[in-house]
Amino acid sequence: MPELPEMETYKALLGSKIGGLNISAIEIGREKSINVPVDKFTMQVSNQAVKTITRRAKYLVFQLQNGKCLLLHLMLGGWMFFGKEEDKPNRTIQVKLSFGEQHLFFIGLRLGYLHLLSPEEVEEEFKKLGPEVLNPDFTLDAFHQLMHKRRGAIKTTLINQEVLAGIGNGYSDEILWHAEIRPDQKINELDDQQLSRLYHSIQFILKRGIQQGGYMENPLYIGDDKTGGYQFYVYDREGQGCSRCNSSIIKSEISSRKTFFCPNCQQ
Ligand SMILES: [Zn+2]
Repeated sequence: MPELPEMETYKALLGSKIGGLNISAIEIGREKSINVPVDKFTMQVSNQAVKTITRRAKYLVFQLQNGKCLLLHLMLGGWMFFGKEEDKPNRTIQVKLSFGEQHLFFIGLRLGYLHLLSPEEVEEEFKKLGPEVLNPDFTLDAFHQLMHKRRGAIKTTLINQEVLAGIGNGYSDEILWHAEIRPDQKINELDDQQLSRLYHSIQFILKRGIQQGGYMENPLYIGDDKTGGYQFYVYDREGQGCSRCNSSIIKSEISSRKTFFCPNCQQ
């Protein structure tokens, strides 16, 4: 599932492709991907310019000229492609937003969705979310305070969107490897030094993820050499050597999520 760095990469690349452009046509291939009747969606979204694209947690918000918002969550398996009709991937398209000759194709939206909402409704959706971990006001102190209230395995907490926003299954393993902490460690058994290391690893890994273009498999457009450049340390690398100590990375399961870590240098 795309996480903070993937959505941040989409935000930046889409901003340069469709920012300020007018949505000239809409096609809905799967009505369940939207939240209102097709004709209402089409009426309120067509001929609107995309003013800005913002990100919160794993969501993107397309702000339209008329004040309405399109709230996107890709969930598991969702992705996007931008380009001409003849270049589109040979996949079922759930939603297509046209910008003249070019189109933004939404693919794999089975659990994911594109909802038409007012800014107030978007805020309501975001109320349940924890802090944005890369915001400057999310300080080391704020992190310590948040963690002191928690119990349970650290991995489960890192991916809980109501505690911290934007971290999912992939980057939680990367962060814990970087901080040299086992994913099944109990939070209340971590000392202050480990918690501080964890805070800095969250910052480091997510910024590295953004810088390297995240881990999505498919490019956003033809010639896109940014998307998918992220190199994993441990995630999906079962049996391969740890780049710190060369021990074999193992795969395990925590709260029924597949988890990768180095049994030697993560404690
Ligand atoms: Zn290791």
